[in-house]
Amino acid sequence: MHYVIIGGGIAGTTAAEELRKLDADAEITLISEEFHALYSRVLLPHYIKGKIPRERVFLKKETWYQEQKIEWITGEIVSRVDTKNKHIEFFDGGELPYDKLLIASGSEVKLLDQDVPGVSYLRTLDDADHLVELMRALPKDAHAVIYGGGFIACEYLNIFHEANIKTTIAYRGAHMWSRGISDEAGELIKQQLEKSGITVIENAKEFSFAGEKTLESVLINGQTHPCSILGIGVGVAPHFSFLQDSGIEMQNGILANAFLETNVKDVYVAGDVAEFFDERFHRPFITGNWMNAQMQGRVVAKNMTGTQTPFDLVSSYAMNIVGIEMIFIGDTSREHADATQVIGSVAEGGVTEIFVRKNTIVGAILTGRNNDRAMLTKLIKEKTELTDPAAILL
Ligand SMILES: Cc1cc2nc3c(=O)[nH]c(=O)nc-3n(C[C@H](O)[C@H](O)[C@H](O)COP(=O)(O)OP(=O)(O)OC[C@H]3O[C@@H](n4cnc5c(N)ncnc54)[C@H](O)[C@@H]3O)c2cc1C
Repeated sequence: MHYVIIGGGIAGTTAAEELRKLDADAEITLISEEFHALYSRVLLPHYIKGKIPRERVFLKKETWYQEQKIEWITGEIVSRVDTKNKHIEFFDGGELPYDKLLIASGSEVKLLDQDVPGVSYLRTLDDADHLVELMRALPKDAHAVIYGGGFIACEYLNIFHEANIKTTIAYRGAHMWSRGISDEAGELIKQQLEKSGITVIENAKEFSFAGEKTLESVLINGQTHPCSILGIGVGVAPHFSFLQDSGIEMQNGILANAFLETNVKDVYVAGDVAEFFDERFHRPFITGNWMNAQMQGRVVAKNMTGTQTPFDLVSSYAMNIVGIEMIFIGDTSREHADATQVIGSVAEGGVTEIFVRKNTIVGAILTGRNNDRAMLTKLIKEKTELTDPAAILL
């Protein structure tokens, strides 16, 4: 049996490791566009801030792949998947046949049309190295600008804030995660940013930057702001453009059933790129977090080796934004909720928004109210039916 895995991130590498445990004789090939052994994207901000040395971000040694008898192909991009003839094709030429294929190609950052030295993106270890270099070269009176209002924008906020760099954040919406979180949570975060000396520009619909050899300034809604370093965090998109003529169904991600099987026989999916049918939430579900990607890697390996195992996890994503804690748990889609309710207030310094379907809490967003986490996670996991879901937090 030859298992081929596209993507050497946490989902793909965990699947390779589990496949080896489950099938000692199988041929396993792991293909990674990146050149590095598995590293933790979660630890990249800690490395950038100088809290851990660079070598601590690695989760596997280069020798691990050989020890596990995993053929590890690095620096190669898969450009096409031929599901009829069961082979993949590489961008540089060449084909590789598979018996079972796992797509664990993750997400890619959305890029701006413009580029100039001084502009930073944050997804890979190479991006992190680049940011460390840019920050080392900054003058004393440097001014940082962040464009975007999601998770990566928050990482930049913490990085620049801890480095004592004067910072402006500009985002397109009325607040951070404008379509994702409540106005109250948005206001709390804004207050926290301003208390920390960060300049906030909302509704930044027009954004561009100037500088030829290096970045000099940014233009936001017609106004010029000085800028020596620019962090872009305008979102990510699932990495699946190479599957266009494969016959594999895609929507927001690669569609799969609860067993992480796609519509094409012997083709599976795991991690950020997977839009799997979540039996708990009764809908196709896509999420980008470490726990989800790692656990899917484990579960998909079971399914690929013939032990039918549905994927079932209430995952969460927690982060601190210059002193205020935010936690996303479970299904926080407004569109799919019957009702949402905000508990707490800006005046109290914390709000929790719950997402309810059929009298059951399916998701929650906590802003400055960490204490709700354990109880809400339990209620979501146990699918507890409640006559008045919000009352539980009052
Ligand atoms: C800076 C940062 C901080 C984060 N912090 C947190 C956190 O605190 N908590 C949390 O839960 N999550 C966090 N995340 C998100 C988390 O890291 C991701 O959800 C997780 O890494 C996804 O893993 P994956 O294996 O699905 O995809 P990826 O890690 O994206 O791996 C996919 C790999 O496949 C490769 N690939 C793609 N297409 C091809 C192709 N055609 N050919 C060959 N190779 C290909 C890519 O180059 C990539 O190396 C963070 C992410 C970043 C960037």
